[in-house]
Amino acid sequence: MSTKREFNLSRIAPINKPIHSITKFTTLDYPHHLACIFWFAKCNMACPYCYNPHIVKGHGTQSTDEALKFLQSRVDRLDSVVLSGGECTLFPSIEAFCQSIKMMGFKIKLDTNGSNPNVLKTLIDKKLIDYVALDYKAPSYKFETLTKNKDFEKFTQSLDYLIKENFPFEARTTLHSDLLSTEDINTIMLDLYQRGYKNTYYLQNYLHVDETLGNTKKQQNKFDLRLLPSIMPIELRNFG
Ligand code: SF4
Repeated sequence: MSTKREFNLSRIAPINKPIHSITKFTTLDYPHHLACIFWFAKCNMACPYCYNPHIVKGHGTQSTDEALKFLQSRVDRLDSVVLSGGECTLFPSIEAFCQSIKMMGFKIKLDTNGSNPNVLKTLIDKKLIDYVALDYKAPSYKFETLTKNKDFEKFTQSLDYLIKENFPFEARTTLHSDLLSTEDINTIMLDLYQRGYKNTYYLQNYLHVDETLGNTKKQQNKFDLRLLPSIMPIELRNFG
């Protein structure tokens, strides 16, 4: 019996309840904004260091109607919504959902792994999102090993479109030094530079927690930040 179809289906959250949970308030995730976060269940990648295995492997518990009802109660208190996950672009009705959020007057930040360039393009073209945080997981030669997803090319289509449109976005990489080396990060930065990325590159240090998607161990390898190229502004997160 083929398991491919079942595998793919299992990675898409039920349409009627796509949202795993809601963070009701944050000032950190969308800088300079008062936001809430909608965490979409399921993901089409499986990064071993993923902090959200319960979201990636879990089921949605809330419908978009419930999420919109929550937003209605926050109209005067929040200005933005972060769509995160999991991978929120897997939700088939993401466009209609964004339209409803925009009609209520909220800005939208989208967190994505870049695996759905067509969805991203539609949301940008229809002015349904305001900011994107794009994960640049790994160089092409390590992408599948790290993410268990073969579509590096789709990721680059997302990246290239954001650059071409001069859309406000950040490229960021989570660094676990046993999974990515200095050479790997150099390759990522050089690729961003050559594609015309002009913004700050964010390097996010992995902070160990007990439960990750791949039961990741603490970092053992040394990572020498001094070996990173000075070809673009870089901001370090969680490096102490
Ligand atoms: S870290 Fe990887 S597995 Fe986890 S939500 Fe992001 S893309 Fe999916």
